[in-house]
Amino acid sequence: MENEARIVPVSALRDNYIWTLSQAGRCIVVDPGEAAPVEDFLAREKLHLAAILLTHRHSDHQGGVAALCARHDVPVLGPSSAQMPCVSRTVSDRDSVRFEGFARAFEVIATPGHTEEHISWLHAGHLFCGDTLFAAGCGRLLGGTAAQLHASLQRLAALPDDTRICCAHEYTLSNLRFAQVVEPGNAAITARAARCARQRENHEPTLPCTLAEERETNPFLRCHEPAVQAAARQHDARTATDAPGVFAALRAWKDGF
Ligand code: ZN
Ligand code: FE
Repeated sequence: MENEARIVPVSALRDNYIWTLSQAGRCIVVDPGEAAPVEDFLAREKLHLAAILLTHRHSDHQGGVAALCARHDVPVLGPSSAQMPCVSRTVSDRDSVRFEGFARAFEVIATPGHTEEHISWLHAGHLFCGDTLFAAGCGRLLGGTAAQLHASLQRLAALPDDTRICCAHEYTLSNLRFAQVVEPGNAAITARAARCARQRENHEPTLPCTLAEERETNPFLRCHEPAVQAAARQHDARTATDAPGVFAALRAWKDGF
């Protein structure tokens, strides 16, 4: 459709995706962990780089920014963080940003937990959530708290069913292996694991996925489900009974999985 951006993931580093949004000859990239794959994409598609959007401080998300800015005069939008000196325009929760050539706005959702400053970007029903929500999983706690990450995921989970999840890593198969151990009786997880395994055999990304799928198969969005709570308690008898407690127990379990 002419009035919607074309959204394509570009593979980078080991298992990162740099998401590109293109419209009217212009391209916006999210979390360029390295510059070369972005330059290749721009050249191949004959696009003009218009802006860089960042979610958080980690180098696999901002490592390519300096090289891109050396060649392109573009704004870099991201959260306020001393660890992100390349950001030229800081944004915060509920900001809405427009770019020339793009019909729809870019909205900011604060999603702390993986790191303290982590934000997500929402554009035309596509959620660029960095290392907060992964397909069938979520980010590790590398600065924020379990309570923060749980609250952030709850907020993302309240978005519409057909929201397309554009996360920053291809971790889906290993996440689904964990999900299957947590909920061996969940047929949606089994079916998704088979489908995603085929996609990976064909070297296709398993993304974007939908929020509806995540609600059915992502244990970290299912902390209210009795089966998930029972599994967490069976793994660690000290697991608290409330959803944030179950979330913290699942996150710790997955860290050692
Ligand atoms: Zn990260
Ligand atoms: Fe990352």
